[in-house]
Amino acid sequence: MPNLKFTDGREIQVGTMYGIGQNYDKHAKEMGSTLKRGEKIIFIKPASSYVPDGGSITLPDFSNEVHHEVELVVVIGKECKDVTKEQAWDYIAGFAVGIDATLRDLQKQAKDKGLPWAIAKGFRTSAPISKIVPVKEFERNKNDFTFQLKINGELRQFGNTQDMIYSVEELIEFLSSVFDLQAGDIIFTGTPEGVGKLNKGDKLEADLINLVKLNVNIN
Ligand code: MG
Repeated sequence: MPNLKFTDGREIQVGTMYGIGQNYDKHAKEMGSTLKRGEKIIFIKPASSYVPDGGSITLPDFSNEVHHEVELVVVIGKECKDVTKEQAWDYIAGFAVGIDATLRDLQKQAKDKGLPWAIAKGFRTSAPISKIVPVKEFERNKNDFTFQLKINGELRQFGNTQDMIYSVEELIEFLSSVFDLQAGDIIFTGTPEGVGKLNKGDKLEADLINLVKLNVNIN
């Protein structure tokens, strides 16, 4: 498996990538969510779907609607099982910005039929992630990351993690109650509103503001 790179030059092997669905109210509304408080949508992308900064999302020929979802990405730093939200920060290696690329047409078909989202969320090249900013550069339990996505220079999505329904620490508490999280595991923490379709030739610039950027081509 490929390695994720930190901004300080260290590297860590990409592990399992977890995603949370509908973690921002306005995005949940634009998706027509019927989720009740306390219910969570968790999905997994294969490690092989990771794309580094400067790489490309290849639009698959079996979808006509590939959407961008810009998200804060959390990287786990050590084995993590049944931790509380108060302990969660100690298991974080760092933060990055990523694109949770989604085959919206296939996802809708899966939702309608009650089928899994594995193809819609985990297809090849579905997980571009920037370099990781090490956790030591942040104040403990920081929860005011701002991030945005520009496509061909035009602002399409803008978010702040204070609008998350489940915080980073709550997500780690929940995921670690179900899964044994490992160093190099990734959490896509959900997207704000403004998702939309990607087209061949688009140039994406995701920005975890004042921290790190991610450039992605669409082909
Ligand atoms: Mg997402």
